[in-house]
Amino acid sequence: MAFDYEKFIRPGKLPHIWCPGCGHGIVMKGLIRAMDSLNLKKEETAIVSGIGCASRLPGYIDCCTLHTAHGRAAAFATGVKLAKPEMNVILVGGDGDGTAIGGNHFIHACRRNINMTYIIMNNYIYGMTGGQFSPCTPTGHKASTTPYGNPDPGFDVAKLAIGAGATFVARGTAFHANQIDKLIAEAIQHKGFSVVEILDDCPTTYGRRNKFKSVVEMMNRLKEVAVPVKAAEKMTAEQLQGKVLTGVLHKVERPEYCEEYAKVIERAGGNK
Ligand code: SF4
Ligand code: MG
Repeated sequence: MAFDYEKFIRPGKLPHIWCPGCGHGIVMKGLIRAMDSLNLKKEETAIVSGIGCASRLPGYIDCCTLHTAHGRAAAFATGVKLAKPEMNVILVGGDGDGTAIGGNHFIHACRRNINMTYIIMNNYIYGMTGGQFSPCTPTGHKASTTPYGNPDPGFDVAKLAIGAGATFVARGTAFHANQIDKLIAEAIQHKGFSVVEILDDCPTTYGRRNKFKSVVEMMNRLKEVAVPVKAAEKMTAEQLQGKVLTGVLHKVERPEYCEEYAKVIERAGGNK
């Protein structure tokens, strides 16, 4: 029997507003499948976002949701988790929202190791606001604000998260749709701050400027560059040139922030 996605959708919210060919809907389905596989209860699950095309996602899902200010998803989500540590807290957003305006919140959420999952949809551009370059736009690629090519090196979101202290980091792509739910489910089950970067496509503002003729061509590029971590172990540095590793890239254990904060409250005499 076909999976019934619509039972997880907030009544009356479909159709969504994403452009035809946008990868965000694929990620939303992956998140819904992950939530279903873990049997997460709607009233015990909060999805928090900032601003941007990707940040529209919580509006479609029928659970506790917060659509907050630009770049501030991690700050709001931290408040939710500290107030209600029993909640499953999932952040969603794009690369501009998460690594530029929200970059500081992102690295400090990684550092704190608070038990939440951050899904970053990286389509290499600010989609909603007109295709400006983001910290993830690759060098030389075009955006509305870099019409002659971006001079900056793009962030590697996974390395940034690992360097800042996230204890679970995974990467998938919108092309590999059937892996997204497994990566997200493993991230949600991890105790600590987990980051899932999904390489995504924005045909409207990124694709056409960078000479992708179709959504299929953009998807094929994701297929071609992605190498699962296990397969990469058997490849040479030369073969890995221009490739991107996918799968679970990093998983360690470290004290979790809510539990450490509870000890501080205890030392201070408890909640009076
Ligand atoms: Fe998706 Fe890009 Fe359209 Fe935004 S502008 S909905 S990111 S395709
Ligand atoms: Mg983006």
